[in-house]
Amino acid sequence: MSTAGFNSQNGTGTGQTYTNGPSQNPVALQQPPGVGYGMNHQPAYNPMQTKVLGPPSPALYASGPYQPVPPGPQLGSYPPPPAQPLLTRPPIGVLPSHTPPQSASPGPGPRQAQATPPAQATPPPPAVTSTSYYTGPPAWQYAAPRGPAPNHVNPAAAAPPHMSHGSAQPPGPGAPPTSIHGYPQPGTAPPPMNPPPPHTYQPNRPAYGPPPTAPPAGPPGATGTPPPPKVDAQSWGAASSARPPTEPDTQEGDVECPGDVAGNGPQAPNSYNHVDNRMAGAAQPGPPGRHLGHYPSLPPGYQNTLAPPPSSLHPALQAATQPYIQGPQPYQQQPGGPGPDQLSPSMAAMSLQSGTPEALRVVNLLQERNLLPPAPVPAPTPCLTQDLQKLNCSPEVFRCTLTSIPQTQSLLNKAKLPLGLLLHPFKDLSQLPVVTSSTIVRCRSCRTYINPFVSFLDQRRWKCNLCYRVNDVPEEFMYNPVSRSYGEPHKRPEVQNATIEFIAPSEYMLRPPQPAVYLFVLDVSHNAVETGYLSVFCQSLLDNINALPGDSRTKVGFITFDSTIHFYNLQEGLSQPQMLIVSDIEDIFLPTPDSLLVNLNECKELVQDLLKSLPNLFEKTMETQSALGSALQAAFKLLSPTGGRMSVFQTQLPNLGVGALQSREDPNQRASAKDVQHLSPATDFYKKLALDCSGQQVAVDLFLLSAQYCDLASLGCISRFSAGSVYYYPSYHHQHNPAQVERFQRDLKRYLTRKIGFEAVMRIRCTKGLSIHTFHGNFFVRSTDLLSLPNVNPDAGFAVQMSIEENLDDMQVVSFQAALLYTSSKGERRIRVHTMCLPVVSSLSDVFAGADVQAVTGLLACMAVDRSVTSSLSDARDAMTNAAIDSLSSYRQSALTIQQPGLLAPACLRLFPLYILALLKQKAFRTGTSTRLDERVFAMYQLKYQPLAFAMLMIHPALYRLDDLSDEGALNINERTIPQPRVLQLSVEKLSREGAFLMDAGLVMYLWIGRNCHQNFLSQVLGVSSYAAVPEKLCLLPELDTAESQRTRALVSWLRDQRPFFPSLHIIRDESQLKPHFMQNMIEDRTESALSYYEFLLHLQQQISK
Ligand SMILES: [Zn+2]
Repeated sequence: MSTAGFNSQNGTGTGQTYTNGPSQNPVALQQPPGVGYGMNHQPAYNPMQTKVLGPPSPALYASGPYQPVPPGPQLGSYPPPPAQPLLTRPPIGVLPSHTPPQSASPGPGPRQAQATPPAQATPPPPAVTSTSYYTGPPAWQYAAPRGPAPNHVNPAAAAPPHMSHGSAQPPGPGAPPTSIHGYPQPGTAPPPMNPPPPHTYQPNRPAYGPPPTAPPAGPPGATGTPPPPKVDAQSWGAASSARPPTEPDTQEGDVECPGDVAGNGPQAPNSYNHVDNRMAGAAQPGPPGRHLGHYPSLPPGYQNTLAPPPSSLHPALQAATQPYIQGPQPYQQQPGGPGPDQLSPSMAAMSLQSGTPEALRVVNLLQERNLLPPAPVPAPTPCLTQDLQKLNCSPEVFRCTLTSIPQTQSLLNKAKLPLGLLLHPFKDLSQLPVVTSSTIVRCRSCRTYINPFVSFLDQRRWKCNLCYRVNDVPEEFMYNPVSRSYGEPHKRPEVQNATIEFIAPSEYMLRPPQPAVYLFVLDVSHNAVETGYLSVFCQSLLDNINALPGDSRTKVGFITFDSTIHFYNLQEGLSQPQMLIVSDIEDIFLPTPDSLLVNLNECKELVQDLLKSLPNLFEKTMETQSALGSALQAAFKLLSPTGGRMSVFQTQLPNLGVGALQSREDPNQRASAKDVQHLSPATDFYKKLALDCSGQQVAVDLFLLSAQYCDLASLGCISRFSAGSVYYYPSYHHQHNPAQVERFQRDLKRYLTRKIGFEAVMRIRCTKGLSIHTFHGNFFVRSTDLLSLPNVNPDAGFAVQMSIEENLDDMQVVSFQAALLYTSSKGERRIRVHTMCLPVVSSLSDVFAGADVQAVTGLLACMAVDRSVTSSLSDARDAMTNAAIDSLSSYRQSALTIQQPGLLAPACLRLFPLYILALLKQKAFRTGTSTRLDERVFAMYQLKYQPLAFAMLMIHPALYRLDDLSDEGALNINERTIPQPRVLQLSVEKLSREGAFLMDAGLVMYLWIGRNCHQNFLSQVLGVSSYAAVPEKLCLLPELDTAESQRTRALVSWLRDQRPFFPSLHIIRDESQLKPHFMQNMIEDRTESALSYYEFLLHLQQQISK
């Protein structure tokens, strides 16, 4: 077997864990250890760091504190706008006159009179970059973290950190237990994005016979046996990069308070640094990484390749389909709570006494080929008592790679599976209990929110399930607003719901919650106008302007740019919008700072006028240059005083001014290069600006619409570090690419109208003994477990890696809690809390039995993205292969009691090799196939940012046969019948020329029509008379009044409805240009450059038996 492994990501059991931080984003990974964001002067220790990244280079912000432009007042330091000569492009409205800023660079002048390009003069450094990030907090800023906080509302701040909030105060004598509780309020969430999975089972197919002696037929052209993947000795650990900069966090107890978010002061020693130092000192590299987390166990019966009884719902499926958090549950918690005494017997019964659980049934992968369940793979159900499981967090929100937590790090190391959490914390929920309370009950020691898994020692005391401190029950908590009864604290909604939202009292805010502020930054260069996106955008915003989340305070603003920056004065009272052009892009300033972001309600007509005229305004432009960097700087200045959301639309490589980029892609190298270059950013400009934005509560969402290379690896940093999102529409064109246009329209509608949280932070806590490191997703890591999220949206996923620092010997269960504090678009401060409880196990078999194969795959994908950037793509590929080899090898050596030939896996891991092979063939990681660099980088972003369910579709698409759809086993939703065809293996063996097959790959769907497709399908579904009559570029299913058409459209739209983005549909024939894309997803087949599934299994077996 191989000597390499993925293990070290879990730490080595010697206590070094925190590799957290910037490593969540590939860019950060580029930084050598010790170079953080300048907030930490200590070299960051990274136990996983096995690859040398080169000598430390100067930190971005290391020596001089970097500062964002302070809000408000500082604008005054720019040349006073009133005196400036008007930068004017005449079209819209009257132009005020302006005086150019007093700088050496050419002042802004009338656009027409611009004689010399602004870039010619030597401009002074842009104001933004010369300022410091860590100025003292503006008076309005939240939380008053470093040093005295004059406007901290809570005088208790002087108390020890953990007690600084009033919410944990002991119950006051005789406080009336009453009316403050507004519970329950209806959740504000929109209808569920994900209806429950189908309740249908279809019998699995019988296993294939003995393995074929020849490899399965590959697609035409597949010749020669590709070499097996190279397996180098290496460990996952190397993927981790420097730990994130930690920031002073003097209010760790209040962590979710926004004030902790931005760097507000000079770097002071803080508790986290001490922890780090200690750990760095103690850290031993340990045995070269070889521990991985665990695998999810598929629920009993699920993994069974025998047909499950059609009548009974699989337990996992039952869990997944349970109505989500249906308000208070009838569960009666004993005063003792779920203590060890109560848990052990039943758990033992569940996991051990019932014989070998299905999850551990031994599967010989070389013999059983039909491993895919007929319906999407459900999340495994943790092995908990029914009472606890009933209260547990939904797997759609919170998932762990191992649903049974190993008792020790060494046990985890043995399993060779990664331990980590996958979260979808702001997911749209149909049922969300909301509590209004003046007292939010939290542990006085670790600040955990009271939750269903705490123990009540008696009516007056509860024991924290994370740190075990015994806390008092506040008087108010004795009253149950649901039952309107007194003296039953364990029946409170907080103790009955693993997901709950609080409306935060005033302690959680130090300035009034910010209003919803939306700034749109639009590329209007010639290239942009050519794509035709601008009119789609303007129309979409016009259509949805009343649905933008917000209230009477909502503000909007617009900036357009090409080689110059254009602002729009929308002040109430103007008869029409007024355009102001700033051509001095080297020293950007705001011409009329007070009238560029306006109240939407008061100025709606002007905004609508602008949206109607914008597309025409630039219709004839010949300006080809793009000063994106300056436009972003201008937008940042505009949003700094309030925070908010910046939506940037870009259609080409920025080529002028700050942040200008050059093409780095060599199309000739796309397929041949073993290692892909330029996955990391070419400049740190976008990352630095993103950090500035994060510090001022500004998130940047990037919409990239382009046919050419745009260096997404560099541009994407602006969103990754500011907690924004990246949308990518390659080859967007309003006429030539209708599928992309439809996708863009649908995505925009969702984007503009979906829920949004502002000035958010998320803290993840776990039971003492476990520790969190290495985060994945889009955000800035503010301290070891605190993520700064200037915006949070319902479609964002996150992942974290964990290790076991102290033995969990005496624990039956452990818990994880994610708390997301945000400002709603209505200006309410809210806290959404999710708590998950999992059992602790002491045997390797139990660890394997609890493995969640999809969660493991999702986490490994995130780790592999990091590895690709910090090390190389080939390293990442080897590490993924080794993950499969190592875990199966460990299973064979340590968990199997009866040795037998073959490639053996526990049933819960039977899909692991297939998923690993799928990852190797995924756009993000594949080699030997021409893959555009931007598309590869985008796929990497998606793997790190998408919630698990969607990431899995990208990794292993679902294939269905559509020409024989029936109503058997169909779902019935809102009187619509949704057929549920079974999921097929991704192999051409499963295709038939007589059929039609739908492949759902997440962002895109393909409907492949066989050459001899039944006439019935062609006419009843596609409305054509023959195969030859299927149009070449068809991306819409015609709405025919036939049962076949209705069934097909119902299925496609149901699949689309379950995700927050809009997958385009391509109907293809054998001759279609897109056929290779369809075929590339046939993961089980061999291609010229990649192994078939069977060959891959043989390779694994070879390595394991070495
Ligand atoms: Zn606690």
